[in-house]
Amino acid sequence: MKAMNRRRRIYEGKAKILYEGPEPGTLIQHFKDDATAFNKKKHEIVDGKGVLNNRISEYIFNHLNAIGIPTHFIKRLNMREQLIREVEIIPLEIVVRNVAAGSLSTRLGIDEGTPLPRSIIEFYYKKDELDDPMVSEEHITAFGWASPQEIDDMMSLAIRVNDFLSGLFVSVGIRLIDFKIECGRLYENDMMRIVVADEISPDSCRLWDVESDEKLDKDRFRRDMGGLLEAYQDVARRLGILNENEPVAGTGPVLVK
Ligand code: UDP
Repeated sequence: MKAMNRRRRIYEGKAKILYEGPEPGTLIQHFKDDATAFNKKKHEIVDGKGVLNNRISEYIFNHLNAIGIPTHFIKRLNMREQLIREVEIIPLEIVVRNVAAGSLSTRLGIDEGTPLPRSIIEFYYKKDELDDPMVSEEHITAFGWASPQEIDDMMSLAIRVNDFLSGLFVSVGIRLIDFKIECGRLYENDMMRIVVADEISPDSCRLWDVESDEKLDKDRFRRDMGGLLEAYQDVARRLGILNENEPVAGTGPVLVK
């Protein structure tokens, strides 16, 4: 614990902490067990959630890297932490939707579960004080949050991530309804490129069982349905990244096989 506390903390968010990394240009991303929704108005600790999101996000980012979709991810370090490249986060959430749900259903009166005629991309300005308002490309360029080229890059990354994730999840009986990514500017030598950053996990996706439509994502928490950890465990198990009896919660001794 002492060694951990000596590390410089760069940033603490709702579900993650960033520490300085072992080398310049790297950071350590630590997954907490905090579950929050409605801009932190709802907050609980879900013992083991951080461990699951660390593993699920590692799995996804490794695959994205492998198919040539650039990300900030380098490697997982331990149960709760991963080594990442330091990027300049663009203050936008990029949401891709395949099926109507959540705020789209509420705002536009389209029943949840209605397949969309095509995938829809939306941008939200990351600003807690404003509850992350939806913004258009006009706002993004006028206020200098990203350039037109960067918007193009983020949209093409988002579509590639959507295609990959849709295929990955459908192969394990899960429908990808929608998800959110964040992007960052990675500076290397004299070059800058846009990469996928943050995390991709059941905290940031809507995932429904193909057969039953059962929700396997953070909506279980947002809507007080219970069974959040079990749902995330189910996702991890289906992806083959969690051994049947591997404990994710609690701090007791772990059997080393
Ligand atoms: N999302 C997210 N973080 C946010 C807002 C949304 O990860 O701060 C994800 C959410 O999990 C869902 C998608 O983005 O997969 C679309 O969310 P929506 O706009 O429907 O908002 P919500 O209903 O979650 O408020």
